[in-house]
Amino acid sequence: VADFTDLQTKVYEANMEIVELGLVVSTFGNVSGIDRERGVVAIKPSGVPYGDLSPDNMVLLRLADGTPLEKGLRPSSDTKTHLRLYREWNEIGGVVHTHSRYATAWAQARKPLPCFGTTHADYFYGSVPCTEVIRDDQISRDYEDETAVQILDAFASLDPMALPAVLVASHGPFTWGGDPAGAVHSSQMLEYSAELASIALAVTPGLVPVRQALLDKHYLRKHGKGAYYGQK
Ligand SMILES: [Zn+2]
Repeated sequence: VADFTDLQTKVYEANMEIVELGLVVSTFGNVSGIDRERGVVAIKPSGVPYGDLSPDNMVLLRLADGTPLEKGLRPSSDTKTHLRLYREWNEIGGVVHTHSRYATAWAQARKPLPCFGTTHADYFYGSVPCTEVIRDDQISRDYEDETAVQILDAFASLDPMALPAVLVASHGPFTWGGDPAGAVHSSQMLEYSAELASIALAVTPGLVPVRQALLDKHYLRKHGKGAYYGQK
């Protein structure tokens, strides 16, 4: 078997990072990463306590059909959702799923997360969408693959790189990025934005989102052609 140590190490570190950031309760959390050139995805094994994880037990799968590269641990039960997002969105290099408190609360409320301030606008170019609730026939057909279908439907007219997060209705958040570390950062900023939004709405019920000009200013100064935030 070819060597995928670099990919496995990045995915392992990202899985440990979501724990350190407080985004994980119990074993509800998984990060994957992809080697696009070789068409291989690495993902956390299913149900293994975080303390027992290591780079070499990150499960390696073929992007095309999800088959494992070698015999070993079973991959995360959410693997089919990750794989379908990688197949549909060529730009993404890492995917994160957690049940982090505030983002999951918004997913359970089945509400998109509006942009109430510049913290959100720096990372997410508008409301973070919430999917439709998954139907019974989808649940019985192929639940994890159909979860990705729900996500893709929510992004039918949205750019996944400008909005690197989604709330899966009645379930929780998925986020992504250019690599596993970037996907973890999206997850951290989604959780923080959801927490801030919850507090802001408690202070001012009926609060409206920021104006487009402020959203544009903050998002576009960090992302895209005219970006000038940070060091060159
Ligand atoms: Zn979940």
